[in-house]
Amino acid sequence: SSRAPAPRVCVVGSGPAGFYTAQHLLKHHDLAQVDIYEKLPVPFGLVRFGVAPDHPEVKNVINTFTQTARSERCAYYGNVAVGRDVTVGELRQAYHAVVLSYGAEDNRILGIPGENLPGVYSARAFVGWYNGLPENRDLNPDLSCETALILGHGNVALDIARILLSPLDLLRKTDITDCSLAALACSKVKRVWLAGRRGPLQVAFTIKELREMINLPGTQPVLNPADFTGLENAVKDAPRPRKRLTELMIKTALQKPGEVAAQAAAARQWGLKFQRSPQEVLPTADGRRARGVRMALTRLEGSGESAKAIPTGDVEELECGLVLSSIGYRSLPLDPAVPFDTQRGIIPNSMGRVEGAPGLYCSGWVKRGPTGVIITTMNDSFDTAQSVLEDLRGGMLDVSVSREGFGAVGSILRSRGVRPVSFSDWEKIDAAEVARGKAAGKPREKIVDPQEMLQLIGH
Ligand code: FAD
Repeated sequence: SSRAPAPRVCVVGSGPAGFYTAQHLLKHHDLAQVDIYEKLPVPFGLVRFGVAPDHPEVKNVINTFTQTARSERCAYYGNVAVGRDVTVGELRQAYHAVVLSYGAEDNRILGIPGENLPGVYSARAFVGWYNGLPENRDLNPDLSCETALILGHGNVALDIARILLSPLDLLRKTDITDCSLAALACSKVKRVWLAGRRGPLQVAFTIKELREMINLPGTQPVLNPADFTGLENAVKDAPRPRKRLTELMIKTALQKPGEVAAQAAAARQWGLKFQRSPQEVLPTADGRRARGVRMALTRLEGSGESAKAIPTGDVEELECGLVLSSIGYRSLPLDPAVPFDTQRGIIPNSMGRVEGAPGLYCSGWVKRGPTGVIITTMNDSFDTAQSVLEDLRGGMLDVSVSREGFGAVGSILRSRGVRPVSFSDWEKIDAAEVARGKAAGKPREKIVDPQEMLQLIGH
């Protein structure tokens, strides 16, 4: 009946996890109201700030998220950092349920000497830079060397390799920021190595991304056939994706240079290095910057996904002026009041219910760990939303007590001088970005300064 109390749910974070959780709740509960809080003025998390600019089709999920945000029972409050501007405790007072979907805002560190030398960057910072993430807008990476080394064998590593080696004409038509496009135009990088501790059967990237790299115009893959000896047999019974991926690497390794017309005169190269674990980033003679990485050679113990890399004792030096560590993102604890498993870097939960905290839930990378594509994140967010719905229906969440939702949080924010950005505010920023991009033939030119975003909407 129309008198039944409306459950108020709040979601922290506006990436895929936040939006898919909200979407599922709104779709499967006729009364639920969902407020989404986001730290940045602008929404969509890694869809805006992670997904590569030359993969525009991946960003189509934004259309679905926009539909959700425009629902009468959904509100978006950007420019609100939970944990700083409002505590999780205050949110729990104001809502029947709180879902934490704030992703993974840090990166794993290598933990080796020289890691902090100029010339060494985390993949997270580098990706944030070319995608216009405000905190990385001044990264200004030094691209004056010829050889770059990417540590990691995942899709993020391949994204970075592709951005470093793509012909500028391909990037110019994307929403890559103007400033990174200008830096890439002056880049001297013409050789990119991707190194991993384990072997070809353990790579984490997928075939679509590998194929894109192999077919990159003006760029030649350099794979060592010896790395693949006997693997054709080893993958005979492997799951199909692994088998096809390995076969593509083998085929590429066996191709003679010049066999692919577009690569005959390739000025740029990339390659995969296996069973190499970084030991130390080596400084130049003046100690001012990175000149290479000493790698420990490894042998594999065990096989398949669980194989372990054990150092053999042999080492090798790899010359490179640019080092990008792409060994994973990492979630951080948000608020001392929320349980956090520092070992695994996730909020301990079962089916999205935060352990020992009724009414508190989590979804996305902070629930599962920082792996998996948007579809994976969608499914686990639907699972979490399902848990909330079950708890609402099962009486575990007391909706007979009405909660004020943003009515309460809004006053708290006002008293602290925080001014939220609404979804229609975002739509103004969005329109301004699209207009700026149009002049340059780009889908958008991102505004990278949050102050400028706020000015634009009259904050
Ligand atoms: P996020 O997308 O990180 O969203 C978290 C949100 O929470 C962010 O908006 C953040 O600003 C906000 N937040 C953080 N702290 C707070 C706080 N204190 N208060 C309020 N809000 C906060 N998947 C694909 O399917 N295809 C791809 O091509 C692809 N490319 C990728 C490229 C990169 C470089 C990376 C890192 C990932 C890529 N992925 C891709 C994976 C995909 O991005 C993730 O699966 C997905 O974004 C995870 O969703 P999430 O909502 O958990 O986290």
